Amino acid sequence: MECPICESEGKFLFRAGQYDYLKCQRATCGAIWISLYPDHTLGDYDKDYHTSYDKPEMIKETLRQVGYIKKALSEVILPTYSPSIVELLEVGCSGGNLLTYLQAIGYKAWGMDLSEEALEIAKVKGIIPEQLSYGIYPQMPKSLDGKIFDLVIMIHLLEHIPNVHSAWRTLSQIAKSFYLYMPNANAEKGKDWVHINPKRPGEHCVFYTIPSILHLCNKYGFKITSCREIGDDLLVVGTKENVYPEYMGG
Ligand SMILES: [Zn+2]
Repeated sequence: MECPICESEGKFLFRAGQYDYLKCQRATCGAIWISLYPDHTLGDYDKDYHTSYDKPEMIKETLRQVGYIKKALSEVILPTYSPSIVELLEVGCSGGNLLTYLQAIGYKAWGMDLSEEALEIAKVKGIIPEQLSYGIYPQMPKSLDGKIFDLVIMIHLLEHIPNVHSAWRTLSQIAKSFYLYMPNANAEKGKDWVHINPKRPGEHCVFYTIPSILHLCNKYGFKITSCREIGDDLLVVGTKENVYPEYMGG
């Protein structure tokens, strides 16, 4: 079976539940994916999946992300821009915790999620209702038709989407810049890896590497402005507007 990112050959890596995980054999990709698509849909998650974000450890995690996003914004948005005209979209915004912080700093914070219940919570937290949309990415809701955002934020989202090119095509249509946070395929530790959920194997169906993201950026018109490996995760910021030559690729 071919790599969903670069179409190179895959090699069996490990099995979790009924899923075989394969690794791309191309040295400049190295992505990991599952051999068959999950039989559950994203909407089938436990009831608390989208609404468990008020626990102290989750708030700490949200604040960590806010710090990274502020830095990302300094890379892709000119400092002379007032936050009030900068439009951010978080795809998979859940109950709106992150949006609440970004809105408090002054940014126009938009959110999209596949849980109606989570969106209701985000409204209660004070996110402007007109800026919240129900939708299952990569399909964009009608309410956001033709809208382009200065920064699109996806935290632990892309690993859920089997159709890589559909996800990136949509991203290139809606984003001037992106902030991506996701598992790092190069940190994989077999079936006991923290990113393989024993309760829902197959939930994470594509794991990216920095070089595989570079491959997609070249195809979809983005330049990477910064990238880091953080624990078992990756943080990648990219833009269409500016070129930051210090990233040499890999
Ligand atoms: Zn590949």
